[in-house]
Amino acid sequence: MAYTITLFRGDITTLKVDAIVNAANRTLLGGGGVDGAIHRAAGPELLEACRLLKGCETGEAKLTPGFRLAASYVIHTVGPVWHGGKNREKELLEQCYMNSLELAVKHRLSSIAFPNISTGVYGFPKALAAEIAIAAVKDFLDRQKAKIQPTFVLFDKENETLYSTLLKKK
Ligand code: ADP
Repeated sequence: MAYTITLFRGDITTLKVDAIVNAANRTLLGGGGVDGAIHRAAGPELLEACRLLKGCETGEAKLTPGFRLAASYVIHTVGPVWHGGKNREKELLEQCYMNSLELAVKHRLSSIAFPNISTGVYGFPKALAAEIAIAAVKDFLDRQKAKIQPTFVLFDKENETLYSTLLKKK
């Protein structure tokens, strides 16, 4: 295995990695939660860069510079809103992780940090989201020659417990 999954409990905006992933909304024009924190830490240039992207579909990902962040880039992805699970939510969440990693490969990045996409205001069940996130990242990186080090950023205790339990099991 050419990669090691790292767990980090804390604020994603503090990480010095090649790219941090933003759980954005389809406008890409900023929001609350992790999106708000990333925009505040990156500075107003990030919003200007996002405007040029003209939004992003659910499950897709787009890249900007990191501006004032320690991270060089921000990969903006739009997680699905949880509507009970019958609206392709699982597949779309998986796509967020896969498409973010695809962009990391395309830009030859060697480290990437993910927040727990969709598990805040978008209401995705945390345990299911954790399983999907870990499986998607492993599946992608197991098939990938380029070496990319992934970090899962756990902002709350519940996610920290879920991820550490799931990663111990496997
Ligand atoms: P979504 O709309 O995709 O649900 P949220 O930002 O509401 O996005 O929540 C996604 C996850 O990001 C949640 O688990 C939330 O606790 C977490 N989060 C919020 N702020 C930060 C931060 N500064 N760093 C890392 N994770 C964060």
